[in-house]
Amino acid sequence: MQQPPTSADGSPPQSRAAARRSRALPLRPQDEVECRRCHVHCDKVVYPAACLERSCPFVYAYEDHGHTFMGCMQKVYTVEIDIDLLRRAEASRVGFGGFKAKREPLPMCKVEVDKCFEHRVGKLGCINPEFFEVPRGEPTFKVFARGDLGRR
Ligand code: SF4
Ligand code: SF4
Repeated sequence: MQQPPTSADGSPPQSRAAARRSRALPLRPQDEVECRRCHVHCDKVVYPAACLERSCPFVYAYEDHGHTFMGCMQKVYTVEIDIDLLRRAEASRVGFGGFKAKREPLPMCKVEVDKCFEHRVGKLGCINPEFFEVPRGEPTFKVFARGDLGRR
């Protein structure tokens, strides 16, 4: 019986095509939230403590069961955070940390690139350096009013 064609490493042609697509450089690498074009694997990480420090107008908050929770209206991250826990973690040595961005961060976000397996970098180094160009600067609008979230 004839076997379906495979690549030298045994993978089917379809998965080679998918791998080629995932390695193709995008038009705007700055807008991506993750890069898998080499074995390093990089992700954009946003820090929610900075949303409050920077008085971002896209923070929302609500009370539930005696706790105040916050989230991001733009869905740069999609989880909701207990503000008391966030402040307690921020007061500690390690801080609260960040979440993997779910969509491209905005200029007011505190964002960094996290390299997952830095030791796996190849001879060519990074082949997608524009991925590291995270948005910096001021939003193009001003906040006129804000509440003191979580300060009771
Ligand atoms: S847009 Fe950025 S700074 Fe504003 S709430 Fe969302 S993650 Fe935070
Ligand atoms: S090192 Fe460069 S090419 Fe490799 S995953 Fe990170 S951004 Fe992509």
